[in-house]
Amino acid sequence: MSSFVVKTKVFSGVDAFHNLKNFDIKHACIITDPFVISSGMSKLLTDVLDEMGVEYRIFSDIVPDPPIEVIVEGVGRILDHQPDAVIAMGGGSAIDSAKSINYFYIRTKAEQKPLFVAIPTTSGTGSEVTEFSVITDRQANVKYPLVNELLLPDVALLDPRLTLSVPPTVTADTGMDVLTHAIEAYVSLSATDFSDTLAEKAIEIIFQYLPKAFDNGNDIVAREKLHNASCMAGMAFNNAQLGINHSIAHAIGAKMHVPHGRANAIILPYVIAFNAGLRVISQDDCSYAMEKYTALAKMMHVGAGSGRQSVKNLIARIEDLARALDIPTSLRAQGISEEEYKKFRNEIASTAMADTCTPSNPRKPTTHQLRELLDMCYYETAL
Ligand code: NAD
Repeated sequence: MSSFVVKTKVFSGVDAFHNLKNFDIKHACIITDPFVISSGMSKLLTDVLDEMGVEYRIFSDIVPDPPIEVIVEGVGRILDHQPDAVIAMGGGSAIDSAKSINYFYIRTKAEQKPLFVAIPTTSGTGSEVTEFSVITDRQANVKYPLVNELLLPDVALLDPRLTLSVPPTVTADTGMDVLTHAIEAYVSLSATDFSDTLAEKAIEIIFQYLPKAFDNGNDIVAREKLHNASCMAGMAFNNAQLGINHSIAHAIGAKMHVPHGRANAIILPYVIAFNAGLRVISQDDCSYAMEKYTALAKMMHVGAGSGRQSVKNLIARIEDLARALDIPTSLRAQGISEEEYKKFRNEIASTAMADTCTPSNPRKPTTHQLRELLDMCYYETAL
């Protein structure tokens, strides 16, 4: 038996904000990051709230990879205000923070669960439709993915205009995050026909439109497509889960502060090769992953006579895309010194092993294999 649930109401397009008027909101708490305020982007939201006569307060202290301290501060603010709607506006960091703040508010004080509205300004995490929230413990240098149904947003507003200002590097990193979500959901042990369909469409869009948005940030058609792909990949992985690509990226992000999407992008070719058992003929049964990657290769018109060659061609397509987006090909090329890498290598492998994303990976790794995989990502071992 399998299930597929999409609870969030999604409104997309340049007039998405106006759909807020369908909801009965009196007091709103807006949770966002300083850029959303300084860029004037928040005005698109506050203009609509003003029209609706909503009283609102703004908490705009969110920083990338939000630490526990910011969540604690946000919970204090929201307890003070007791809103009937929480509106998260920003990248994955702002949305994840708002989800956690709202969660602790519901668990401690809220008499009624506030309406939760997510308005993404990057096309990457899919956080607007997932029950995940990734919070960083800065003391322990660990990123914790919290998973709970209460974290799932009620409404998502996808306005592509909000992403026009995303700089090329962030466009590249977040776009590769979408690709990784879709590919991991597709090969996950929990994948279904429903999640596969969304993942396939997201992958198709990424290959077609990510280079366009990277080359011309003002291409509104490409931006809209990427915003939709990010949301679709979010729906796919919210149901099908992820895999070790994300487990490793979470650990690398926390220890070595590589942007999340970039970490995913650097690791992706190596994880595909590992899951498909490409490099070393393994004792493990890799046939499921091999079959799924081969199906993707065929979908992308790079299928070949054998499964192994098809997977190699798929990896080559991903590497070509990453090159076109100026993404480094190894952790070393990303600027991480060998000393720092060696300091964290073992800890990253064991943290990744314990990550909530690891059990749904199509091939069960050992910690030793994760260490080997990390070495390949650092030293750029040929696949
Ligand atoms: P982010 O939210 O950390 O933002 C990165 C930078 O981009 C920030 O400086 C931000 O101010 C800026 N920015 C945001 N929107 C912009 C815009 N429109 N124009 C210009 N600059 C803009 O980046 P992200 O990649 O969206 O989110 C990453 C976080 O999300 C990580 O903490 C990651 O672990 C988490 N994550 C969560 C999920 C989930 O399901 N909840 C999934 C994947 C990743």
